[in-house]
Amino acid sequence: MTYDYIIVGAGSAGSILADRLSESGRHSVLVLEAGGKNRSLAIKMPGAAATLYRHPAHNWMLHSSPQQALGGRELYAPRGKGLGGSGVINTMIYLRGRRGDFDDWAAAGNDGWSWHNVLPYFRKLETHPLGNTVYHGGDGPIRISRMRGRVHPVCDSFLAGCYELGYPRSDDFNGADAEGAGVYDLSVYRGERCSSAKANLHPARKRNNLRVEVDTTVDGLLFDSERRAMGVRVRRHGTPLDFHARREVILSAGAVGSPQILQLSGIGDVSRLRDLGISPIHHLPSVGEHLQDHLSASYDYRANMPMAGKGSRSWFGRMKAHLQYVLTHTGPLSMSPVQVGGYFRGDDNESIPNLQVHFSPLSPPVSELRGSAIADESYPGFRLSFNACRPTSRGSVHIVSRQAEETPRIDPNYLGTERDIEEAVQGSRLIRRIAQSRAMRAITAEEIRPGPQAQSDAELLAYFRETCESAHHLCGTCAMGADPDRSVVDRSLKVHGVSGLRVIDASIFPNITSGGINAATMLVAEKGASLILRESA
Ligand SMILES: Cc1cc2nc3c(=O)[nH]c(=O)nc-3n(C[C@H](O)[C@H](O)[C@H](O)COP(=O)(O)OP(=O)(O)OC[C@H]3O[C@@H](n4cnc5c(N)ncnc54)[C@H](O)[C@@H]3O)c2cc1C
Repeated sequence: MTYDYIIVGAGSAGSILADRLSESGRHSVLVLEAGGKNRSLAIKMPGAAATLYRHPAHNWMLHSSPQQALGGRELYAPRGKGLGGSGVINTMIYLRGRRGDFDDWAAAGNDGWSWHNVLPYFRKLETHPLGNTVYHGGDGPIRISRMRGRVHPVCDSFLAGCYELGYPRSDDFNGADAEGAGVYDLSVYRGERCSSAKANLHPARKRNNLRVEVDTTVDGLLFDSERRAMGVRVRRHGTPLDFHARREVILSAGAVGSPQILQLSGIGDVSRLRDLGISPIHHLPSVGEHLQDHLSASYDYRANMPMAGKGSRSWFGRMKAHLQYVLTHTGPLSMSPVQVGGYFRGDDNESIPNLQVHFSPLSPPVSELRGSAIADESYPGFRLSFNACRPTSRGSVHIVSRQAEETPRIDPNYLGTERDIEEAVQGSRLIRRIAQSRAMRAITAEEIRPGPQAQSDAELLAYFRETCESAHHLCGTCAMGADPDRSVVDRSLKVHGVSGLRVIDASIFPNITSGGINAATMLVAEKGASLILRESA
């Protein structure tokens, strides 16, 4: 079976590519997705994100390798599976990143990817309540909601505490640039998650020139003698099958899946491939390198008043919330658990905001909510979390055998640099400053974790090492750049050294962006699609 374009993976990026490449009707497009159709109410319902966090039908549920700087802990690495990928299991906080993040993409040898260059694509992909403005789009598929005025009232105490300490107020994290505290935008519309699967892929599936195959895992790429990607080999219910591409194969299998497929297909570091018995097609040593992620630590507090989880403690409360959601698409189940936060400078010497803080009006960690659609609050409390915006540690994703079924080794090398350790301490002190503000003290009964005994830098760092978790923003494993020794794709997202093959997903980030990376991943897909279409015209 032959198509013009084959897209591997129907996640945040793949869903947009499927839509844009099939839009004109001139090209035949095949999307291959390892997971299923992802038809579940939990995917629509924003407040049910916790149930998807450890749900094998929607989530690959991976783990990192043992992390040396974290006492050998293996951190949980959820990855979305099925139509929509990680975009249908994420927390829906919509943050583009900061202006400088993209200027650094361009500075890394990628002309055309500066903030100024990417802004039109951010505008194209969204419909923002502020309408068509310099910074926002008014008619794109991804619908954004502003949460201002809709968040739990106690979020105001967090914001008041930040302003009281002199941190700026941010009215729009996705505007000119982001600094200070404010209310997040969500990729939620009328109380439902608005992923690129919902906004792009599902409407596009009505087109005759788009075919979407689920439960179909791509094991490797097919090349001709000129090193041109001709198609893919898949596994469906245990049976191997080939699909052919007239124009291009596009890998959108995410920051773990895309480097895995390249390595299984003989593209990567030659000596590493030979050690696994794989015949190399092309030596590209950066495949799987430069893995980046945000690493987050949380401080938990008991509040002296009811918090957002109050209603979830009783059967009646849970029923009420579900009923309210089903009937009106409002209430706690229509919200992300994280509602406010911001970008802060760790100290006066920082030239840009280098830390991100989140406030959640719930006591238990989202990661510990199992099986319940709504937070099962054991005590009235809230949580302050932080992560560095631009961690400098670099890790890797490498296959461990030639067997496609085997999960690659994910080694983010967390806290691998002195700078990341410095920012872990800065962030811990920042959380304590905010918690000590007058506005926050007014709602606080006690700090539960780490507790008042942790005071010195060494104690705060020890707590960070023992409890930090991934923010689930893996990226960078097929980095974009001009030098084939240090990158995997060029600025057109074409894989160096072969033809007919691009990578378009979070793995091409030259550096991680500040905040969640879903918006930036969708931007990569919007721009990637336009690069492809321009060449095919
Ligand atoms: C729990 C969680 C919470 C998050 N919260 C936020 C947030 O609030 N805000 C934010 O901005 N970002 C958030 N993120 C990050 C963001 O959602 C992801 O970075 C983004 O969705 C990645 O998009 P992608 O297209 O690169 O990969 P994915 O969306 O992961 O898509 C990859 C797809 O490829 C498929 N695939 C993989 N291998 C193969 C194969 N061999 N054959 C066929 N198909 C394959 C997968 O099943 C998957 O569907 C979160 C992520 C997670 C996991």
